[in-house]
Amino acid sequence: LRDPESPSGSADLLKRHRAVLPNWMGLYYDEPIEIVGGKGNRVVDASGKSYLDFFAGILTNMIGYDVPEVREAVERQLATGIVHTSTLYLIRAQVELAEKIARLSGIPDAKVFFTNSGTEANETALLLATYARKTDQVLAMRQSYHGRSFGAISVTSNRSWKNNSLSPLNVHFLHGADRHLVQFRGMSDADYIKACVDDLRHVLATAVSNDVAALIAEPIQGVGGFTMAPDGLFAAYKEVLDEEGILFISDEVQSGWGRTGSAFFGIENHGVTPDMLTFAKGTGNGFAVGGIVARADLMDGPHAVGLSTFGGNPISMAAANATLDYVLDHDLQANAARTGEIILAGLREAEQRLAVVGAVRGRGLMFAIELVDPATGAPAPALVARFMEETKKLGLLAGKGGLYGNTLRMAPPLTLTEDEAREGLGILVTALETVNDEAR
Ligand code: PMP
Repeated sequence: LRDPESPSGSADLLKRHRAVLPNWMGLYYDEPIEIVGGKGNRVVDASGKSYLDFFAGILTNMIGYDVPEVREAVERQLATGIVHTSTLYLIRAQVELAEKIARLSGIPDAKVFFTNSGTEANETALLLATYARKTDQVLAMRQSYHGRSFGAISVTSNRSWKNNSLSPLNVHFLHGADRHLVQFRGMSDADYIKACVDDLRHVLATAVSNDVAALIAEPIQGVGGFTMAPDGLFAAYKEVLDEEGILFISDEVQSGWGRTGSAFFGIENHGVTPDMLTFAKGTGNGFAVGGIVARADLMDGPHAVGLSTFGGNPISMAAANATLDYVLDHDLQANAARTGEIILAGLREAEQRLAVVGAVRGRGLMFAIELVDPATGAPAPALVARFMEETKKLGLLAGKGGLYGNTLRMAPPLTLTEDEAREGLGILVTALETVNDEAR
């Protein structure tokens, strides 16, 4: 353990980080932490302080830290002497994982292609869809985040997340994940869905010049602040898309693998079978694995191509197979439902009594809190910074996001225990009370 102020401590590392890494790589906290170890659902920083991890590397450490099953699978692969060969050769673990994911996807006649990240997965989906449909026109949702490669950034919708893109795609952005915004609050879900579908039809009638390739959407928007389309919206959209032959791509990078508690992939909560789905983040429990599932006719289209030669390498596949087996063997989807409900119920109770809490929403182990100015109800990003410092002090890692930067996002590992759920909830509520007292 190191004293943060010592020459080799975190303060010195921060100085070196600032000197040599881009300044747009945001670091959390006034005094950023260096994580040096982890076990179960906790991590420890260089000063020896332990944190219950409620953000899990932005949902990447899906089954926590130092999981023996994953470690042993990777060590077995390392013992063969092979870290990577090439996808020019047969890789057993890749075929096995593809079979499992194809079956779980619910997509008929599904094929799987592995990438190293969610961005690459979405880029591949957009390549396949635009090839298949012979058009550069694409639909996406407002407040979306799909990555920052040329294609992925063009379907990402928020000025601060796409400040430098010249889009290679012709993109139109739809309502549907902005139900929570103040201008829609008075509306019933049914009226909101009708307005959204009318708007989609209007976009198709006016904004596009010929065929549209696809709609890409997150079942629950991640970076957007865990905002959700109301039940029935995606099904209503799908009907319109089907009339036009427009493909539906579900970005499951944050909402997949049982995280919502009520379905294995987030889009299943909406009773919609997508034409393609993309995944990443938790898939390899920290190892770089992303990918795309698509109907065979789309995956094997005449001009279809893969995005990289590195995806699906033996080490990543060993980690991902072990992680997926762990999720299924321990029914972590049910655990997400159980532990998520404990936390959500507690946050809803806090929402009732703390003026600083503008909204609480969640599904399974994805839950968000919007902080507002108690006097005006306006989004209060400065209070988010205060809350983050407070939870850090109390030993919990949280995340932030949302259109106005006033949303706290939490997504603990799916392995969270009920005791840890109650412990984390206690810290969240204490921090909310502190921020609430200060803001009055
Ligand atoms: N899609 C979604 C929904 C995401 O949240 C992210 C990352 N935050 C991405 C795609 C991009 O994934 P990656 O960072 O692995 O490239």
